[in-house]
Amino acid sequence: MNHSPLLLLLFLSVFCCKERESSTDVYSAFTGGTIVDGSGGVPIENGVLLIKEGRVVAIGEMGEVDVPENAFVKDVTGKTIIPGLINAHGHVGDVKGIEGGHYSRDNVIENLSIYARYGVTTVVSLGGDKEEAVSLRHVNDNFPQQRARLYIAGEVVTGQTPEEAVSMVDQNHKMGVDFMKIRVDDNLGTSTKMTEEVYRAVINRSHGLGYKIPTHMYYLEDAKKLLDAGSDLLAHSVRNQEVDDSFIELIKEKQIGYCPTLTRELSTYVYGDTASFFSDPFFLREYDQETIAPLLDPSRQEKTRNSQSAQTYQAQLPVAYANLKILNDAGVPIVFGTDSGVPTRFMGYFEHLEMEMMAEAGLTPMEIIVSATKNAAEYLELEKLGVLAPGFWADFIVLNADPLMDIRNLRELDGIYIGGVEVEQRVSSPAK
Ligand SMILES: [Zn+2]
Repeated sequence: MNHSPLLLLLFLSVFCCKERESSTDVYSAFTGGTIVDGSGGVPIENGVLLIKEGRVVAIGEMGEVDVPENAFVKDVTGKTIIPGLINAHGHVGDVKGIEGGHYSRDNVIENLSIYARYGVTTVVSLGGDKEEAVSLRHVNDNFPQQRARLYIAGEVVTGQTPEEAVSMVDQNHKMGVDFMKIRVDDNLGTSTKMTEEVYRAVINRSHGLGYKIPTHMYYLEDAKKLLDAGSDLLAHSVRNQEVDDSFIELIKEKQIGYCPTLTRELSTYVYGDTASFFSDPFFLREYDQETIAPLLDPSRQEKTRNSQSAQTYQAQLPVAYANLKILNDAGVPIVFGTDSGVPTRFMGYFEHLEMEMMAEAGLTPMEIIVSATKNAAEYLELEKLGVLAPGFWADFIVLNADPLMDIRNLRELDGIYIGGVEVEQRVSSPAK
């Protein structure tokens, strides 16, 4: 068949211009900084991170990596590069300000953008995910983007009978989710717990369809039974008592991650008073006075102070701290997560608080970074994410201060990159 020369010319010119306009067909190199690659290994001093088409091409010491002549070079001497943070237990789309009930495609995007501006470059949303989120999922080949990558679990699977619950698994599957999620908890004795018969059926069905199934739990005994039944992630801390040897043995044998979500507990009681972070400029860059005003209301604060459940969760936070330290020291993989994206659990900022709480529990900055990068990706099988290595997505943060000296230095954001493209920070005050 003969192509018209004019058409061919038109095609070529469109193609060429498109190529030239794209920032993704050229190399970029970040040179001179210290690179913490997420693996937990020795940081690379005076490093080079070479990127092309959104992915890492090479990483190493200066002189070891060939930087092509036409590469865009950014000197990051004196700065530290770490992989973007992965929140393995968040939620997206429902919350605006401090209110729930705002689920929409735009709000999913807005929430993911807030996460991204704080350095959280991937969010695994464990429940409350609707149809609108399906096309916004991880499917990340369409870089550049200004929002965190997304994985979803659909609706949290519930049911009185195995049949009921399994049909919910099937509905989520039909919608097109990445994970299945269940809750095995009686909310401090106020609700009915999912039975073992039901959750075993849900786990089996989910595994049969190829899904990992992170589980919400609270009690040590439930955590053991869930591990035995095949749970793929404990999505909260064991909070009712200290973990014992049989639990440690079991979780290590199964090689399952443990996701502490300490800020979840914090959020239950911290608004009994005026939270100290309300005056933190790092908080205020995304959340303004109007947003937090209801949390300053004295009667609301009093109600929180007098809440029995808030008091119980607060009293059990030290148990969660102790368990985190015990499990970390026993070699159990700690997987970073916050349960943010629920009203009053502030997306993005809470991830930084969580890391600070993990440090208070006794984890080193390196252990915390690994939990929020390599471990989160590895134990949820998020492909090509979590570490900076050839072939992996170029999702990373450039920091103006050394996070290995103090985890709070993760607040010293110089730039956040997703698929090699810088995330723009807000230029004006937070949206109302
Ligand atoms: Zn959750």
